[in-house]
Amino acid sequence: MSKASISASEGVYGVFHAAGGVPGARARLLISAAGVARVETGGAPFAQAPLTDLDISDRIGSVARRVAFPDGGLFETDDNDGVDRLLGRKGPGLVASLERFHPRLALLVVLVLLLGAGIYRYAVPVLVEVAVAITPPAVPELMSKGTLESLDAAVFEPTALEKERQRALLEGFNALARLTPRGIDGYVLHFRRGGSIGPNAFALPDGAVVLTDELVELAGKDDEMIFGVFAHELGHVEHEDALRRLYRAAGVAGLIMLIGGDIGSGAEDVLVQGAGLATLSYSRGQEASADRYSVDLMHRAGKDPAAIARFFRVLMEKLDDKGMSDFFSTHPATEGRAQEVERLAKELAAR
Ligand SMILES: [Zn+2]
Repeated sequence: MSKASISASEGVYGVFHAAGGVPGARARLLISAAGVARVETGGAPFAQAPLTDLDISDRIGSVARRVAFPDGGLFETDDNDGVDRLLGRKGPGLVASLERFHPRLALLVVLVLLLGAGIYRYAVPVLVEVAVAITPPAVPELMSKGTLESLDAAVFEPTALEKERQRALLEGFNALARLTPRGIDGYVLHFRRGGSIGPNAFALPDGAVVLTDELVELAGKDDEMIFGVFAHELGHVEHEDALRRLYRAAGVAGLIMLIGGDIGSGAEDVLVQGAGLATLSYSRGQEASADRYSVDLMHRAGKDPAAIARFFRVLMEKLDDKGMSDFFSTHPATEGRAQEVERLAKELAAR
């Protein structure tokens, strides 16, 4: 009997390898109307199992199809069309095998989705902390230097503040920096004319703090207000907020690259891809925490702990009057923030 003459109803010819390394024997695979698969050779059944218990390999080109029986027996055939006809003809059998597969597939999809959500919820914060902890000091220095250089090239002009005023502001800055864990050597104050970025103050992760002439002008004669802003910025540096924000923006893949690879060049990539440190927005939590830091540090320095609240009010007033840009559009001054600062200051005074 030649292969070509076998109809689907007569089964498919191939070789059957019984479990236990017995040499293969020419055999025929049949499927009964009840959905039971049977391998026979010379009329004698070799193996038998419900179709739903078989593991049938997918059709891949002309690769031999393998039909594995639960007892370890393996039926192999080149007759791909024959196998398809056999399975196709046995509709219920095929449906049964699909039904067996689908719950597993659905479960797999659910697991993958849960894993993805889990990574974002739990793994990212952990990865961010790991990245911050292993970041060598050279990285924030590199980032900060690059940021300041590009701002100097694109936006800033040299300061026009009188030397006397600069000295007074620097003295206040140093008095605050001295009381922080990084100490006075951990910070450098830079005076600049802000140009298009206007009244502004911000800290870079290496401890460089930039103050624009426009912010000084906005504060009028109230230097304590500026010191309150300094203290807020020192809070961001002490909490390593900028680095955390950058690393969060890097995402899971970026973080794994940062942690697993060369953190120096990885961080550079992140910086180049991101909008840069100067436009980095802080979270509300980071802002609130830097405000608290300002209140506490100003109090410890013997200055007015509520000074930054006055600054917020000045900003709100100017925003109403002139539509002026915020001291950082990313940390908006609000009445709520001013009131919270005043509440904290009162709390400190009552102690
Ligand atoms: Zn801030």
